[in-house]
Formats: sequence, structure tokens, C-alpha cells
Amino acid sequence: MLGDWTAICLRCGGARRWFEEFEAEIPESCDACGGTMLHRCPACSAPFSSTFAVDCEACGAQLREPELFGTPIRKTTTRKE
Ligand SMILES: [Zn+2]
Ligand SMILES: [Zn+2]
Repeated sequence: MLGDWTAICLRCGGARRWFEEFEAEIPESCDACGGTMLHRCPACSAPFSSTFAVDCEACGAQLREPELFGTPIRKTTTRKE
């Protein structure tokens, strides 16, 4: 599965595929809601391939709030990038 990764919107959970050679073309914000698109682990910079990834497969760091699937995102959940 080399070169086939997923970017996830931290706000609405929308996902899009990306390839390593086109990484520079990944938008920093979501097309649908303007939220931050996460495409690499913030801790170790490892990319992830699962649309439903919550924890980094490489280092175990939390990629996003698991509550995203069950409850609305609060506006206080802002990230510094
Ligand atoms: Zn979004
Ligand atoms: Zn990691």
C-alpha cells in the first residue's frame, strides 16, 4: 500500500486519499467545512492509510478525538498549526 494514504478533516471527519508524490497538493483545510486536514501523525509524522484511524499505527499517539464519531465537535477544540 505504498504511496496511498488518507487525510482526515479534524472537524467533520471527511477523508481524502493522497499519494506521497503529491503531498504538497493536500489542502490544509477541508473543502467541506474549512477544518484542519490531518495527513500525518503530529507526534512522529507517520502517514496513515485508514479513514477511521484514531491512533497512530507507528507510535500510538492519538490522531484525533475518538468522540468525533458519536458527538458533535465542540468549538473549543481548536488546534495550533
Ligand atoms: Zn471538514
Ligand atoms: Zn505517530
